[in-house]
Amino acid sequence: MSDGSSFYITTPIFYVNDVPHIGHAYTEVAADVLARWHRQSGEDAWLLTGTDEHGQKILRTATANGVTPKEWADRLVETAWKPLLKTVDIKNDDFIRTTDERHEVNAQKFLQHLFDAGHIYTGEYEGFYCVGCEEYKQPSDLIDGVGEYAGQQVCAIHSIPCELLHEKNYFFRMSTFGDQLLALYEENPNFVQPESARNEVISFVKQGLSDLSISRSSFDWGIKVPWDDSHVVYVWFDALLNYITAAGYGHDDEKFSRLWPATHVVGKDILRFHAVIWPAMLLAAGIEVPRQVFGHGWLLVGGEKMSKSKLTGIAPSQITDTFGSDAFRYYFMRAISFGQDGSFSWEDLSARYQSELANGFGNLASRVIAMIVRYCDGEIPVGGDFSEADELIRGTEKRVTDAATLAISHLAIHEAIAAIWELVDDLNGYITAQEPWALAKDPANRARLEAVLVTAVRGLGTLAVLLSPVVPQATAKLWTALGGTGLVTDQRIDRAWEWSGGPRVFPLEALFPRIEATVG
Ligand SMILES: [Zn+2]
Repeated sequence: MSDGSSFYITTPIFYVNDVPHIGHAYTEVAADVLARWHRQSGEDAWLLTGTDEHGQKILRTATANGVTPKEWADRLVETAWKPLLKTVDIKNDDFIRTTDERHEVNAQKFLQHLFDAGHIYTGEYEGFYCVGCEEYKQPSDLIDGVGEYAGQQVCAIHSIPCELLHEKNYFFRMSTFGDQLLALYEENPNFVQPESARNEVISFVKQGLSDLSISRSSFDWGIKVPWDDSHVVYVWFDALLNYITAAGYGHDDEKFSRLWPATHVVGKDILRFHAVIWPAMLLAAGIEVPRQVFGHGWLLVGGEKMSKSKLTGIAPSQITDTFGSDAFRYYFMRAISFGQDGSFSWEDLSARYQSELANGFGNLASRVIAMIVRYCDGEIPVGGDFSEADELIRGTEKRVTDAATLAISHLAIHEAIAAIWELVDDLNGYITAQEPWALAKDPANRARLEAVLVTAVRGLGTLAVLLSPVVPQATAKLWTALGGTGLVTDQRIDRAWEWSGGPRVFPLEALFPRIEATVG
């Protein structure tokens, strides 16, 4: 059993034949911000991401492109999925591919274990299968087709007709785990979050669970069923196992005990796989269920869910090429309540970039550093004549640190940033009110001037530490310019106000330069 000492967080593993859009990057950034925050809280944080490479859809795409599925996967991993992590500045600890030997071998161990324990049987299945979803659909999941598919029933997500398949398959006795799952949701309300996601999952399970077809014999691109190599493992059953095979299941007990259980961040469209099928698989295997499954909302562009199949996909690099990765990270974490649907627009992104990042935060940093250079030859004052206004800033630093820490503990990233931004706003107001440029005109006010400048510098240092998980590049530059000791990423975020800076400031280029080009 787990010693629970780590903060292990995962993104879904992404289908290699999709091209990364901002929805994927959004999930990656959210998990990365949480991992960075926990790392900076002194925890053993571990972020896993990766790619899902098996299944009929990938086989078909590869064949259509004249390559083997493995060649196709290799190409997409190197040209699309690993570059995405760079584009949005993800600091992952591991990257698993479902074609990795460590995954395939240990996924087979898991399956054999379930088979030996009597959780798997042979059966017949007939149903409507969506190749887009890689999933059998219930009649209630289908909608009326339009255009070329008028008169047919189509997948509600992909708008394409499903195929009627009839197969001899291996089945997982998922139906026997309904009561245990309902007890789990009841006893641990945090297991599925947010509340809307939890309610949806509970009402789904209350309708009664069917057994799950977990093998396919009509194609061979997948992990072979260990006791019958004419079948490959159903791609979702295979994919979900990445969370434990990457963490050492079956091959590194010490690592597995340290890391597991994980917090899974997923889009709400794949919530049932993670909050129903996955814990049922683990219960069957006698493995602890995940710590939490958090279903975030959809990104909407013009009112439609972002996906390539709906032709609304925007490549993350379209945004980062103009605004930079920090702005991407900040915008999506700040503008959208994590867990709810949110709309993306270029206008909103531009407006927040200018008012919040460039004017609110970036200008604050430039002005304070410029004043220390001008009035103190770059040397950070050590003391001064402190007043109640300075104490209020110190109080705000502590208050927002606690508020942000609390918000992160329930994955409310947007609330954490909003709390931190109170310090940005208060510092701007403080400088306007204290008028250090006026104090500098009279040597009699020297002690007061120094108190104001050191208060402002320390406030900036606190901001650098608190914002480091969200805007890692800007805060690293700021920390260096403030003469901060070591790396900003090594500063304890839960004590962000504990300044450990050097004697002087250094030149700082604009953290968020003005963007001239029109975009969109
Ligand atoms: Zn579909």
